[in-house]
Amino acid sequence: MSSSLFDVVNPSNESQISQVVRNTPEQTSRAIERSTSAFASWKLVPPSQRAALLRNFSETVRSHVKELADIEVANSGHTISNAIWEANNVADVLAYYSGSVERLGGREIPVAQGIDITFKEPIGPVGIIVPWNFPMPIASWGFGPALAAGCTVVLKPAEVTPLTAIRLGELALEAGIPEDVFQVVTGSGSDVGETMVLDRAIRKIVFTGSSAVGSRIQRLAADQIKRVTLELGGKSANIIFDDADLDKAAASAPSSVFDNAGQDCCARSRLLVQESIYDKFMERFEEAVKGVRVEDPSLETSQMGPLITASHRESVRSYVDESLVLFKGSAPEGPGFWYPPTVIGGIDPSHRLFREEIFGPVVTVTKFKDEQEAIALANDSDYGLSGSIWTSNLGRGLRVARGVQSGNLSVNSHSSVRYSTPFGGYKMSGLGRELGPDAPDSFCEVKNVFISTEI
Ligand code: NDP
Repeated sequence: MSSSLFDVVNPSNESQISQVVRNTPEQTSRAIERSTSAFASWKLVPPSQRAALLRNFSETVRSHVKELADIEVANSGHTISNAIWEANNVADVLAYYSGSVERLGGREIPVAQGIDITFKEPIGPVGIIVPWNFPMPIASWGFGPALAAGCTVVLKPAEVTPLTAIRLGELALEAGIPEDVFQVVTGSGSDVGETMVLDRAIRKIVFTGSSAVGSRIQRLAADQIKRVTLELGGKSANIIFDDADLDKAAASAPSSVFDNAGQDCCARSRLLVQESIYDKFMERFEEAVKGVRVEDPSLETSQMGPLITASHRESVRSYVDESLVLFKGSAPEGPGFWYPPTVIGGIDPSHRLFREEIFGPVVTVTKFKDEQEAIALANDSDYGLSGSIWTSNLGRGLRVARGVQSGNLSVNSHSSVRYSTPFGGYKMSGLGRELGPDAPDSFCEVKNVFISTEI
């Protein structure tokens, strides 16, 4: 079957901005064969040289930040300020993991009658399957540590947002990363993605996306005892206690859920507010929501862009029961897949608005009485990815953080992702951790060698 082209559309104005190749399963298999051949030499590149190549890749990305950001604004509708952060994040991730190449060693373990040494060896070609919500950073959280460990990479961007991945592939070559060590294969999840999962030469899949596809990938990978790292959805809580700095908590709550138009696995889409300060908080929160600038994302002033596609906007809309809306922000009229920041109240935790990942600019607000109830409500979810706790009592902040079943929590902040700290989820939010100092280890086999001193 020969490949065809698919249209790439700007979600802010619905114009076609490019056409990209839809690769077939056969073409994907050939890319995997090339990745396997490239692995044989990439794993032998001396560590200092591999580190230098990653540093070069980082610097090349850094010198193209504005170009990459502009592509992302047009392809994904991200605000220009976010897109610049995202492109810089790729450069940061590569720089950080370039430093791990020469530190990635085994150890000598004391044993009787000999010497025991462990070696860390790269596992082989790795498949990285990326969603459309943060195409650049999420890709780099996989390929940065994988390349550092000595693995080769086949990267599949989401069909709707392939453009920055294609450009990163070109920049890798420009930076001197040898041909076929880092390949970008565009096309659909069912053709390209699933071929990568099923091909035995791919030794690990790093997947970010929906829980449904993540669970299918885990089942398929199990047949080959293939490793998977899964970063899936979220329904994170933003917990506001009565001793919090209410001005800061209210001013920051909109960006914690409406950033990237709510298309963020870490979005704090369940706001939990202590009942004693509910009215005071909501007054400030409403003002902040109505002040969110939803406008052309290429403008420096823009704080929120459109949703990714018309069908995704329909999915978000289908969740919102207008009779439950407390208030809304504004959004431009079409063209473009715009949807206003929307605040929902008066629902029970059994309601699907409280339970399901909507992946749009929609937040529910629920009152709680005390610490125990706040923790219970935060944990009343199939997900466990992120969360925030606002309090001036650090002891309470830590107690609640320890009580909430979630991989990434922040106190008096909405920070979720730093390249130097581990990131991943509890429960249906995923399996394994990305980023942080240990990420390259997850791309290595550990080999143990015993040398007898008795002969
Ligand atoms: P998917 O899980 O379908 O897509 C994520 C990636 O997986 C894309 O690259 C997709 O390819 C690929 N893919 C799809 N099917 C397969 C398969 N069978 N084998 C291998 N790869 C596959 O997410 P959606 O884009 O459909 O979004 C649906 C919902 O998932 C969202 O509304 C949100 O709730 C959640 N989501 C969560 C994300 C997160 O960050 N945790 C990110 C994105 C979505 P392609 O799209 O090109 O066909």
